[in-house]
Amino acid sequence: MSEKSALVHDLEQVVEPTHVVWRPEDLLVYEYDGSIDRNNPGAVVVPSSVEQISEIIKIARKHNAPVVPRGAGTGLSGGAISMEGAVVLALTRLNKVLEIDKENRVAIVEPGVVNLELGQAVAPYGLQYVPDPSSQSACTIGGNVGENAGGPHCLAYGVTTNHVLGMEVVLADGTVTWLGGDAREVPGYDLRGVFIGSEGTLAVVTKVAVRLVPQPEAIRTMVAAFSSVEAASETVADIVASGVIPGAVEMIDRLCIEAVEPAFHPGYPEDAQAILLVEVDGLRETVAEQAELVEELCRKHGTTDWRTAEDEEERETLWASRKKALGALGRLAPNYYLIDGVIPPTRLPETMSKINALSDELEIPIANVLHAGDGNLHPCILFDSRQPEQVEKALIAGGRILEMCVEVGGALSGEHGIGLEKQGYLPLVFTDEDLEAMARLKPAFGAAGMFNPGKIFPTDEQREGIPHAAIMQRLTSDMVI
Ligand SMILES: Cc1cc2nc3c(=O)[nH]c(=O)nc-3n(C[C@H](O)[C@H](O)[C@H](O)COP(=O)(O)OP(=O)(O)OC[C@H]3O[C@@H](n4cnc5c(N)ncnc54)[C@H](O)[C@@H]3O)c2cc1C
Repeated sequence: MSEKSALVHDLEQVVEPTHVVWRPEDLLVYEYDGSIDRNNPGAVVVPSSVEQISEIIKIARKHNAPVVPRGAGTGLSGGAISMEGAVVLALTRLNKVLEIDKENRVAIVEPGVVNLELGQAVAPYGLQYVPDPSSQSACTIGGNVGENAGGPHCLAYGVTTNHVLGMEVVLADGTVTWLGGDAREVPGYDLRGVFIGSEGTLAVVTKVAVRLVPQPEAIRTMVAAFSSVEAASETVADIVASGVIPGAVEMIDRLCIEAVEPAFHPGYPEDAQAILLVEVDGLRETVAEQAELVEELCRKHGTTDWRTAEDEEERETLWASRKKALGALGRLAPNYYLIDGVIPPTRLPETMSKINALSDELEIPIANVLHAGDGNLHPCILFDSRQPEQVEKALIAGGRILEMCVEVGGALSGEHGIGLEKQGYLPLVFTDEDLEAMARLKPAFGAAGMFNPGKIFPTDEQREGIPHAAIMQRLTSDMVI
């Protein structure tokens, strides 16, 4: 769009012109999210109030322009990427914590509040907001709701849907309404649950009522090194089977260690092939008991190095080397393609071996970082996006890993959603009838053709068994080598 369109003119009547982006060179900033895919939006608008959002949606409707809600753009499945020339509605200016009700342990926040900043806002009241995606220093609560985000500490306490009581949304005709509320239970259909994880396809979330919980009395953070990924995986399976539910059980493998050690200096042994980061929290006595059991299980599986964080500083270093591991992978390759698959934790040992074998077979490095306790794999396929054959190999490897997850009774996504990235793989787990039943939800809320088009559901080509051709086409079409 090199000339200002009638749509942009109308948007500028609602939002200051500085907050409407339409020049092609400026739109490039919004071409990406955190995934490997990309596409240019038709325009971007950055409102500051729910009233403006309602007006923007009415204007978009008048011009037959679909709308894509966007938080921080850290999503890893292409959810915030605009297809079909859609207008991106960037929600980062709605960034206030509106209310903290200490007694009832509820906060009302705007969607552009950054996850970590919500935690910081409620900490002085002795409270915390549990879901802690590793991207929490950037991602927004609206984006967390959009993807039903998880995080290391969701193992014991549940993901976003377990911590959101209700939300204000703007529907496709501009109506502003609440789904759920600030109470623990509401009668009738759980529409709140339907919208959480709907990837911006049903409505725009403009306020969120979140559940807060007291900070734990005690926390113990432990690190165990292993001489093989299989030994670490067997330990995880045993911890889960033992009935202990740690706050977090995370794993990183050798290749990941090579990236994080020089970046954060967590002090992992040089010969470690895998590291487990286990945290137990709760009442002081329970924490001591659980830590003892976790140590016993790690020793049973031959941990080569065991330590407990001595103070908050050491704990923070250990968590930084886990939560910022993806950024550190930039030391190893220009790009990574992160796969978000889920398997039953008992199938970890064999699946991790198969992923390593796949890396050897396709001759493409794969670094693994896992929310291991809930079987949520994040194999990161390292590649160079300037090399078409590497892009293709990465996409093939990603597809093979997703197939492995389904074969062992797992799922296609633990927390990052389907978006553009995995829509081609939905036929692995759903029949045509299932998909058609799900697709009826969008028109039921009047959102058909309006919010985030081209996402979640497979295209005809993908239904015919060509899952990643469209992504390959977008990634290589304007490649300059
Ligand atoms: C380094 C790194 C680590 C990560 N670690 C984790 C992790 O541990 N756990 C995890 O779950 N994810 C993780 N992610 C993925 C990502 O951070 C999450 O999916 C996050 O919830 C996205 O938030 P966002 O604000 O960036 O949303 P965006 O990427 O902007 O949007 C995500 C989706 O939500 C929709 N959306 C955004 N705002 C709204 C709104 N107000 N109303 C309606 N729909 C909306 C969008 O349309 C899109 O479909 C990680 C990403 C990175 C880059």
